Amino acid sequence: MKRISKKYVLFSAVFTIVVIMGFIIHNIILSKQQYLELSIKMLKQEAFAHYTNMVHTRTWNSNYEGVYVKAKEGQKPNPYLEDNHTFTKNNELLLKINPASMTKQISDISNKQGDYYYSITSLNPINPDNASDDFEKEALLYFQKNTKEKYYTKLEKDNFNFMGALETTQSCLKCHHNYKVGEIEGGLRVSIPTTNFNKNIVLLETKTNTFLLLTFTVGTIILIFVIYFIKTIFTRQEIIESLNTDLEIKIQKRTEELEENVKKLNQLATMDFLTKIPNRRYFFEMSEKIFSSSIREEIPLCLLVIDIDFFKKINDTYGHLIGDEILKLVSSKLSKNVRSSDILARIGGEEFAILLNKSTRKDAFIIAEKLRKVIEKVSYDHEENKINVTISIGITAILSEDENINTMIARADEALYVCKSSGRNCSVIL
Ligand code: GH3
Ligand code: MG
Ligand code: MG
Repeated sequence: MKRISKKYVLFSAVFTIVVIMGFIIHNIILSKQQYLELSIKMLKQEAFAHYTNMVHTRTWNSNYEGVYVKAKEGQKPNPYLEDNHTFTKNNELLLKINPASMTKQISDISNKQGDYYYSITSLNPINPDNASDDFEKEALLYFQKNTKEKYYTKLEKDNFNFMGALETTQSCLKCHHNYKVGEIEGGLRVSIPTTNFNKNIVLLETKTNTFLLLTFTVGTIILIFVIYFIKTIFTRQEIIESLNTDLEIKIQKRTEELEENVKKLNQLATMDFLTKIPNRRYFFEMSEKIFSSSIREEIPLCLLVIDIDFFKKINDTYGHLIGDEILKLVSSKLSKNVRSSDILARIGGEEFAILLNKSTRKDAFIIAEKLRKVIEKVSYDHEENKINVTISIGITAILSEDENINTMIARADEALYVCKSSGRNCSVIL
C-alpha cells in the first residue's frame, strides 16, 4: 500500500480545521450583522408606528378642516388661520386648531415627557417654530431629490431619527397658497431614544466577542492536539520502520554469517583435517561427476593411487607426530605439483588419489613419475636426522567398459600392488 506523506496529512487536517473555524467565525459575524440590521429595522418599525398614528390623527383633523377647542387663559388665536376663533353662547373663546398646530401641540406634550420627540417641519415654514434642524433639512432635501422616497432615517448615538414625508392636502392650501396637492413640502419627524438599542448592541458585541474568542481558543487547542496526534502517529511509524530496517540489516548480517558458516562447514566436511587437502568424501563426490561426463563425452581421464612406502616404519621409528608432519609435507608437495583442474585427495591413512582430468595414459605416467621424483627428493629434518620418503603409484586410464570410479580405483590398486611387489618407489600403469 502506498504510504500517505506526513506533510499531506498535516496539511489536510490543518486545512479542514481552519476551514471549519473560518465557517463558524464567518457565521458568528454574519449573525451579529443580521441582528444589528434587525434591531435597526425594529427601531424603524417603532418610529413608523408613531408616524402613522400622527398621520391618522392629522387626517381626522383635516377631515373636519380643523377643530375648535376651548382656549386656555392667555391663549390667542392662530394668526395664520382663517376663522381662527369663535365664541360659545356663554361667550367662551374657542380657538381653531388645524392639523399642523394640533401636531405641534401633541409634539410639545410628548417632548416635555422626554421619551419620544415629534416635530412637524417644512423647508418653507409659515410658523418659524416649525423651522427644520440639521437632520430635518437633510431629510427634506433627500425627499426633494428622491421624489419616490417617503421615509428617511438616521441612527445617531442617543437617538434614532425618522422622517416621514407629509403630502400636501387640500386643507394645507388654506395657509400654504403656493403648495400643490400631493406634493411633498414638509415632513413629520419622530426620534426614538436608543437607550435599549445601545444596551442590546453592547450585549451583542460582548456575546459575539466571547463566541469568537471561544471558537478561536477551542479551534487552536484542537489544531494543536491534531498536529500532535498526527506527528505522534508518524513518529511511531518512523520508529517502527527504522526498527524494521535495523532488523533487516541484522537478518542480512546473520544470513551472511550463516552462509559463511555453511561454507566453512562444507569445507570442513570436504577437507582433510590433518593435511588440509580434500578428503575421501570430496574425492568420491567430484570423481563420480567427472567420471560420468568423461564417459559420456569420451574425454580421457586417468587416476593415480599413491601410497607412502614403509610408512609404518617411520611411525615406529620417529613417532606418530613425526609421521603426521611427513604426511603434511607429502600432501603439500603433491598439491603444489598438480594442475588446478586435477583432483587431489587423501583417501586413506598414508594413501592419496589424483584424478587427472583430460589426461591420456602417457600424460598420466609422465605426471606420476614427476611426482614420485619430487617426493623422492624431499627430506624431513628431524633432530640430527634427515628422513626421506618414497611413494608407489598405481596408474590407470578410463576404459569405455568401466562402470564407475570404483572400477578405476580397483584397477589402480592392482597397479599399486604390482608396484609394491616389485620393490616400491615406482609407477605402474594398468
Ligand atoms: P607399505 O610400503 O607396504 O605401504 O608399508 P606401510 O608400512 O606403509 O603400510 P602399512 O599399511 O603396513 O602401514 C601404514 C601405516 O600408516 C599404519 C598406520 O599406523 C599409519 N598411519 C595411517 N594413518 C596415519 C596418520 O594419520 N598418521 C600417522 N602418523 N600414521 C598413520
Ligand atoms: Mg597403505
Ligand atoms: Mg604404505
